[in-house]
Formats: sequence, C-alpha cells, structure tokens
Amino acid sequence: MKITLLTGQTFNFNDYFDFEISVVKSPLAKHLTLRIDEKKRRPVLTLPKYCSRTKALKFLEEHRDWIINNLARLPQPKHFVDGAQFEFFGSKYTVQHISELRGVRFENTVLKIGGKPEFLHRRVTDYIKRQALKKLSEMSLAKAKILDCRVVSVKIKDTKSRWGSCSTRGCINYNWRIAMAPADVIEYLVCHEVSHLKHPDHSAAFWQTVRFLCPNYEQSRHWLKIRGKTLYQYV
Ligand SMILES: [Zn+2]
Repeated sequence: MKITLLTGQTFNFNDYFDFEISVVKSPLAKHLTLRIDEKKRRPVLTLPKYCSRTKALKFLEEHRDWIINNLARLPQPKHFVDGAQFEFFGSKYTVQHISELRGVRFENTVLKIGGKPEFLHRRVTDYIKRQALKKLSEMSLAKAKILDCRVVSVKIKDTKSRWGSCSTRGCINYNWRIAMAPADVIEYLVCHEVSHLKHPDHSAAFWQTVRFLCPNYEQSRHWLKIRGKTLYQYV
C-alpha cells in the first residue's frame, strides 16, 4: 500500500517487505501497532498521526520475525482436492475427481467433478457458489414472505469483511463461505439480512424481528463471531 505522510512524501511498504501489509492511519493511535488480519491473511500496521517513514520501517523491521511466525501459524488454506471433505448447508460431502466425467454430478454424499485436476478447486468452488446462491435465494424469499417484505435480488459475493448485507432497496448479498457453516448459522444469517428489509439498523426492534424469525439466534451469532473466521480457510 502506498502511504502519504504528512510531509507529502509517499512510499510503498511492499518495496521493503516480501509480504503484503495493510496500513491504517489513525489520528487516535498513540503508538505504532501491528496485528494479523486472519481473514485477509496479512499484517495490519496502524500508524499514529505523526509518524516518520523511518520509524515505521524500523518498527516493521523489528517485527519481521513476529509477522512471519504469525502468518505461518494461520490455519492452512483448504483446497478442494480429490478426497477433500467439506460441509455444505450442514451436510458432509466428499470431492471425487473423475477426469473423464463431463460437468458435475452430485451422488449421495459425493460431489463428482470432471476435467483437468488443476481446475478441480476452481470448479468445486464455482459449483458451491452456484448452489449456495440457489439455496440462499430460496431461504431469503421464504423468510421475507413471513415478514411481508420484498427481496429485489440475492447475490453471492467473495468478501473478506462481512457475511452478508442488505440494502434498503431489498438487495441482499451473502459471502459464499457461509454455505460451509453449520445449518443453524446459515439460517440465522438469512434471518438477520431479511430482518434488515424491515429495519435498516441494529436497533432493539431489529433484534426482535430476528428473534421472531429465528428464536435461538444467539448461539449462531456467537458461532459466527468466534468460529466464523475458520471459514476463511476456503480461498
Ligand atoms: Zn446487520
């Protein structure tokens, strides 16, 4: 990332380090701080308002080992290889690669995928996204009907910052990785986004609507907060 200092100078941290660094400038920060963004799998450096380039670089240099060790400790990305198991809307499936097979076939708990092995991961991901869109659309429409609200569109996104969003116009977006969460967590997320059709905020009235649609939502909300990041292993 390119940084413009108060002096007007700009420089790029990535000219100095062989990993991507996110930089946040905070007028409230008193010191330079460093953390690991587990979803984006990269370090985040927070710069206070007045900080020289030399100081920031020295700080990063001093923490180089810390960064490398912490990045290495992150859960390894999951790839859909032959034999890989994954959960989809609460049921367990296994990927089976069959080179001569045309297209994709679901048989019991086996997802059979054809084509070249180097495209296997991409083809499974694409398939999951397509199926997730279908299922999440159906679920959203059903929940919206209960509230007597209209859904204009449902889309699947590859976002690293949120699980879902809902515009005042009625457009709902979901992060595709939610498809690999436990079924009650998916149900909660759908109820959460659909409740935004009625309340665009997180007011008490909003949470009341969520509870009406999904009475035991608290557990799922907690799961998403604490365990949700494990789903970012799916790249
Ligand atoms: Zn919300």
